[in-house]
Amino acid sequence: MPDSAVDVQIEHVSQVFREQGRPLAALDNINLTIAPGEFISLVGPSGCGKSTLLRLVAGLQAPTTGQIRLAGQPPDGLRTRKQIGWMAQQPALLPWRTVLENVRLPLQVNRQARPAPTSPEELLAMVGLPEFARAYPATLSGGMQQRVALARVLAIGASLWLMDEPFAALDELTRETLAGELLTIWRQFRPTVIWVTHHLAEAVRLSDRVIILSPRPGHICGAIRISLPRPRDDTGPEFQAILREARRVMEVRSGT
Ligand code: ADP
Ligand code: MG
Repeated sequence: MPDSAVDVQIEHVSQVFREQGRPLAALDNINLTIAPGEFISLVGPSGCGKSTLLRLVAGLQAPTTGQIRLAGQPPDGLRTRKQIGWMAQQPALLPWRTVLENVRLPLQVNRQARPAPTSPEELLAMVGLPEFARAYPATLSGGMQQRVALARVLAIGASLWLMDEPFAALDELTRETLAGELLTIWRQFRPTVIWVTHHLAEAVRLSDRVIILSPRPGHICGAIRISLPRPRDDTGPEFQAILREARRVMEVRSGT
């Protein structure tokens, strides 16, 4: 595991928004410690506060109460040094820049960013797009655009990946392929990962631990540790038993 992987400590974190003058509780007393290099998934119904929690971990907003520490420090330090990689459902590529220029962008706009030892060109090869460096995003499929977004995360050598349903807009087959490739890349770099998904089987396939959130205001209603070796055979009896257990926790404790 590289020295750079960070641990994440989420302590008594609650978030209350104001919505048309009324308080709206989004997260309720979240306590979670994530080890350096650990891959965790957050699953829970729509609106339970998953994206909010990622934004708090990224330091994009401060929690109403509680605190978050990344490698013992407030999130700002890691964020300003561009050590946090972010992927969302939309790849957010700049259409007027080529694929290679998009991958290089965070390094160009942030002087504190520390480039990964691997060149952007090599990273494009690693995500399966070696011949698309000079292509424009609009000419690529959705899955290919997400590959570019992943290369951009790799280019900054991020030690923490915050992934907000990055493959949710893709078809099932592309999604499975990409998830498998992402896992291979994760094992090579071993960042700490928080992966948000609706897809319970995907969470069980990828993660060291699946954290289940209740409907809003989200609180942790279950956690399942998965020590099956990767890549995981999702048709195997052990995998299926874990998946059933995760489903049960979600249905029983979260009321969904
Ligand atoms: P999820 O990602 O699990 O679907 P979100 O974190 O996006 O959930 O949202 C949780 C709840 O907080 C939702 O009810 C949403 O409408 C509300 N919310 C999120 N961001 C804001 C905001 N900036 N202002 C007011 N309400 C918000
Ligand atoms: Mg969300």
